[in-house]
Amino acid sequence: MPSILQCIDCGQQYPINQVMYTCDTCNGLLDVIHDFSESKTKINRELFDSRLGTLDPPYNSGVWRYKELIYPDLDNDKTVSRMEGNTNLYPLPRIAQFVGVDTMYLKHEGENPTGSFKDRGMTGGVTQANVLGMQRVACASTGNTSASMASYASRAGMQGIIFLQNKQIALGKLAQGIAFGATCLQINADFDRNLELVREVSERLGIYVLNSVNPFRLEGQKSIIFEVIQQLKWQVPDWIVVPGGNLGNSSAFGKALFELHQLGLIDRMPRLAIIQAQGANPLYKHYQEGFKNFTPVKADTIATAIKIGNPVNLQKAIRTLEWTSGVVEQVTDQQIMDAKAMVDGVGIGCEPASACSVAGTKKLVERGIIKPEDTVVGVLTGHVLKDPEATIGYHADQLDHIVPAYRNQMLQADDNIDQIINLLSDRIPV
Ligand SMILES: *Cc1c(COP(=O)(O)O)cnc(C)c1O
Ligand SMILES: [Zn+2]
Repeated sequence: MPSILQCIDCGQQYPINQVMYTCDTCNGLLDVIHDFSESKTKINRELFDSRLGTLDPPYNSGVWRYKELIYPDLDNDKTVSRMEGNTNLYPLPRIAQFVGVDTMYLKHEGENPTGSFKDRGMTGGVTQANVLGMQRVACASTGNTSASMASYASRAGMQGIIFLQNKQIALGKLAQGIAFGATCLQINADFDRNLELVREVSERLGIYVLNSVNPFRLEGQKSIIFEVIQQLKWQVPDWIVVPGGNLGNSSAFGKALFELHQLGLIDRMPRLAIIQAQGANPLYKHYQEGFKNFTPVKADTIATAIKIGNPVNLQKAIRTLEWTSGVVEQVTDQQIMDAKAMVDGVGIGCEPASACSVAGTKKLVERGIIKPEDTVVGVLTGHVLKDPEATIGYHADQLDHIVPAYRNQMLQADDNIDQIINLLSDRIPV
């Protein structure tokens, strides 16, 4: 049977060859459901291991390597790919020590072609736009979705249209959207409002929406989990820790783990920890209140990628928490920026939102929820170059309300050898 769309609330099913993001009957979110029954014997660890290092498209992509789990009946010629994925999983003893566990890995999704995990979703979403014959695609974005969509739309010869907030967009992300030739609209509204606007405008103009409400994006993002587990030689970590904004990743991770378990590719579920910024914590508050009466928040955090007050994938994220015995934690901007300085300082680097994975792990260890002997995989969602202003602001001690605990202060010198030698002599390791 071909894949279908299925409402997560009422179970209503729809064919996938139409433009649709939510259920016509109840407005619930949609899953792309695959029928694994026929291919079940074919889907095994050996199949995916045999494709490691291949040069053949689309299987050279770290997303399409798992095609049977992502879009089984896709005609390979329709794939719009930049050989995304295949990112490193770093074992990092110094970060493990910082957070208080024996073993910590960081999965660096900033190593994707446009510098964030969004590329894994975008290859799924733009491929589906291609299948549907769409000419125009659009998204609202805090920055990374637009950078990614602009790139993939250009590759596919489609017009990309991006709705950006006119405040607090990180420089690297804005530059990418413009560079890759998308139509960039700066709008005097925050992300949550821009998402409403893009959905309404796209509906009227027949444009395909590529925000994470689009279920084909989440299918692509499942591959983060597939790749982590494969890189661990199919061993399951105790915890996977991820920042939560619009909760697309959290949702995709749950579906990925559920399906791996269903197919017998893993024998137990890891626990998922979703980390939000304290100033953008609607899921955290909802979790604390036992998921009664959700209220959006007005978001404010230095981690602009997760500055979201009304996450569109809320219901799928709650399902993920149930499937994985998951937890939700919040961290302050101070904790985010200090954790970022640690990740940057070991030579890996990430953007502010990504550091939630490290700051959140540390807090969960302090609270006794993650045990020191647990194996933890944290996801770094974006590249250090995305938001240079936040990095420089921290080390120059120019950020409001943040005291740089791990400061790497710039030194200034005249054109004077003695002065330079003097400055450096303080710093030579003994
Ligand atoms: C999009 C993004 C997030 C948030 O991911 P969601 O799937 O919306 O929860 C976190 N970090 C970075 C760098 C991002 O680009
Ligand atoms: Zn429904």
